Amino acid sequence: MTEHLLPWLRDLARLVVPVSCPGCGLPDETCCARCAEALGGAPRRVEAGAPRLDRLDGVSPLPVWALVAYTGPVRDLVVAWKDRARLDLDRQLAGALRRAAAHVAPSVAGCVGSASGRTGGPAPGAGTRRGVLVVPAPSSAAARRARGREPVRVLARAVARGLSDAGVRASAAPVLARRGRVRDQVGLGSRARGRNLAASVVVRRRTLRRCAGGPRPLCLLVDDVLTTGATLAAAERALEDAGCDVVGALVVAATPPPGARSRGDPARPAPPVYRAGRSGIA
Ligand SMILES: [Zn+2]
Repeated sequence: MTEHLLPWLRDLARLVVPVSCPGCGLPDETCCARCAEALGGAPRRVEAGAPRLDRLDGVSPLPVWALVAYTGPVRDLVVAWKDRARLDLDRQLAGALRRAAAHVAPSVAGCVGSASGRTGGPAPGAGTRRGVLVVPAPSSAAARRARGREPVRVLARAVARGLSDAGVRASAAPVLARRGRVRDQVGLGSRARGRNLAASVVVRRRTLRRCAGGPRPLCLLVDDVLTTGATLAAAERALEDAGCDVVGALVVAATPPPGARSRGDPARPAPPVYRAGRSGIA
């Protein structure tokens, strides 16, 4: 019933509020083919451009894959989707990350049933085929109230489907939450963002126990945009403290390192922007 109603409601809404592609302004397009193409490539490793992912404990930075640089039309698409209630872009962004997850699946599969996690800790579940928990980065309570939902959860479900498409048993599990009042991240330096966030990301233990299905669950984080890496670093720390192995993260877009050329413009293919990670799963 809902499936039949949605197109009708969408057409009715367009009569009242005309739709245009947020990437380029093309009228009557949710997301035009040209802007959608920017999301169509294979994901690349980008953690080398995120200083807050450096752990300072000898463990390599969290491997992070991004589809595209956070510039130009892609930035406009993500902002419209996340902060301007363009829920109609769910399909494009979720579809892009579902395809990206299939690219990442072989690397994730390499960690399933491995003898130890990235941090080298014991893995009581080793030898069994562990499923993967796809964990959305948590939104602040203020952002959740303003948006009426947590849009990254849509991406996490898509990533779980993409892993399953590639034969890796996976499910989305919203096991992280933000606690307490956190200052707005806008305008804060990278170290201040890290301090601001580190104590605020907590694990919903009951949800984790229910979703994990065994000891030492294997987690893949999902977020929309990678900037300094402070959010993912806080999420990684919280999950590890709760006994999880965090194998990496998948994001839609990454802020390019200073001076890097953008590949966010689909009309101007650029050479690879990012260096591969020093180690970790590749
Ligand atoms: Zn467009």
